[in-house]
Amino acid sequence: MKKWTTTNGYEIFKVLAGRSNAYYVRYNGVGLLVDTGKASAYRRLKMNLNRVGLAETHTRILVLTHTHFDHCRNASVLANCYGFKIVMSNAEAGCARQGYTALPRGTNLVTRVLSLFANKYLSQFFGYKAFVPDLSLETGGELTSYGLDVVVIPTPGHSVGSISIVVDNEIALVGDALFGIFPNSAFPPFADDPDSMLHSWNVLLQTGCQLFLPGHGIPVSRELLQREFVRYK
Ligand SMILES: [Zn+2]
Repeated sequence: MKKWTTTNGYEIFKVLAGRSNAYYVRYNGVGLLVDTGKASAYRRLKMNLNRVGLAETHTRILVLTHTHFDHCRNASVLANCYGFKIVMSNAEAGCARQGYTALPRGTNLVTRVLSLFANKYLSQFFGYKAFVPDLSLETGGELTSYGLDVVVIPTPGHSVGSISIVVDNEIALVGDALFGIFPNSAFPPFADDPDSMLHSWNVLLQTGCQLFLPGHGIPVSRELLQREFVRYK
């Protein structure tokens, strides 16, 4: 399992890789899971959470970077079976309560057509079990009350309520604000509002983070994000 450790000892594990990533931050008895993958990944996720010591935690938090089905499909079962407290953006809490979030618009011709087609004809495949967040953030916030030096910042663009999780001001978990599946590129193939996404990239660059862990693919370095920002802004 891939793992990163920050200067102050926050351990970040990639507990799901492949189609969708999920990350688990371990620090001082607190377990912070970021995203959950699709239903088909549940067994693998459960196994990996056991491997990273979920049983020894006294506090379990699940932060959802956004509510597309490939990120939140296991949210409800994780809350029910393991007592995860769900934290997410208020802007998508309504979607969570309905158990449905439309796919984002494409950012190029091919993905634009794909997204239009899928939302029109395949929407029944993008639902998930509805859930109610324990904490829905209006403008981001700090998770210091859970004993963590972790800051949640709004990074809209891919979706209206996309958020990023900044761990120890060194590593950010960014959901689909960045994609790590194309070499030398971080621009998502899907985003509802690319302009506000670029603004969000700038916000991410204002942090001290050197590494950005995306919801799909491999890590994006600060250098690549900086280069991409200059290219698209
Ligand atoms: Zn997404």
